[in-house]
Amino acid sequence: MDCIFCKIANGQIPSKKIYEDEKVIAFHDISPEAPIHFLVIPKDHIQSVNEISEENANIISHIFLVINKLVRELNIEKTGYRVVNNCGKDGGQSVNHIHFHVLGQRELKWPPG
Ligand code: 5GP
Ligand code: ZN
Repeated sequence: MDCIFCKIANGQIPSKKIYEDEKVIAFHDISPEAPIHFLVIPKDHIQSVNEISEENANIISHIFLVINKLVRELNIEKTGYRVVNNCGKDGGQSVNHIHFHVLGQRELKWPPG
């Protein structure tokens, strides 16, 4: 499948990886919007939140456990951070493989534009 994040997950496209296990991979965003900006993705191709079902929903809690661990390692668990999922056109999703952005080490504005 011609999916850039599947290729990152299987190593066909290099990335600055910060975590990997049998189910997920986390890597620095190529175009960071904050001093810390990484993405966590499932290795399995799931398009978006629209494709979450009873069958695959456990990957989401696993992703959040990985985020919990990584923010501690990167020392932003106390200063705070934002976890973002963009879904579909209006949500600003540009890669159709579900991913969670984690942004930190600067004060982020709200609401988003
Ligand atoms: P979206 O807009 O779909 O929520 O986020 C996609 C993110 O993936 C963007 O922040 C973009 O910078 C990042 N991205 C796109 N292509 C690559 C790539 O080849 N490598 C890495 N590390 N990040 C990428
Ligand atoms: Zn994919």
